[in-house]
Amino acid sequence: MAKMLKDTLKTIESYKTQSPHYEELLAILEEILILREEYRRKMPESIFPVDERLISSKMEGGLPLIDLSQGDYDLTQPQAYFLDLLQIAEKRAPGETKELAGKIKSGEEDFKEMLLSAFYGEQEDEEGERGEEDETFDLIDLFLEECLRPSFEKVVSGYGDVVLKSKWSEGYCPVCGKEPKIGKIKEEEGTRFLFCNQCGIEWPFLRIKCPFCGNEEQQTLAYFTVEDDERYRVDVCNECKRYIKIVDFRETKEEPNLDIEDITTLHLDILATEEGYD
Ligand SMILES: [Zn+2]
Ligand SMILES: [Zn+2]
Repeated sequence: MAKMLKDTLKTIESYKTQSPHYEELLAILEEILILREEYRRKMPESIFPVDERLISSKMEGGLPLIDLSQGDYDLTQPQAYFLDLLQIAEKRAPGETKELAGKIKSGEEDFKEMLLSAFYGEQEDEEGERGEEDETFDLIDLFLEECLRPSFEKVVSGYGDVVLKSKWSEGYCPVCGKEPKIGKIKEEEGTRFLFCNQCGIEWPFLRIKCPFCGNEEQQTLAYFTVEDDERYRVDVCNECKRYIKIVDFRETKEEPNLDIEDITTLHLDILATEEGYD
């Protein structure tokens, strides 16, 4: 694992040189990944118990293994991780997240509520209180997702194989139910895999099918690339107007790290949004 982290950090360093405009974000990601490794090691058991008897029926029924809205999960570790993550933002904008950290520690701010609304994408109505700066605001959402990642990764390392053998065919994550933002093309046959940022699992998904609405009509599915760089493309669906970023590194035989690729393809998100996709 430590070697993997080292390799990842090396990749980040080279990306910083290649795309200087992503330097700051990559530096943040670097710090996140180092902390993630620490929390991975600290995490004794997954906070999400899995009833093995239910796995196959859940998979057949299109139900993710874990339903975050159900169950009384022990959030001690994720909260500690979140508070540590906040320090990354605090270092960059002193004072911005201090109040939030204090409120979480005192219980004035309900951490579980925050997690759930970030997970289910609900708009936070106390935006003012969470800092005026947009960047800080986005970072908090990123941290809320990240603080559950080590716990979800435990589920993936324990049950990922079983899940993948179940031939899950949905466009949302089989483990946590989140929708993917990025994926990759792999293997000679060019299978498309979708990636879950929340738990780190990748699962195969039909190439000519929209992960979001299930549309399989070739005429309404399209993709675009930028500056003819075929390694990166955006698959779009003109039925539901959603998009997903896809990386294809088969040519260079590299294994893309989708945590990094997701960050360094933000310009594709901007373009897709400008084109009316979300
Ligand atoms: Zn997931
Ligand atoms: Zn669609």
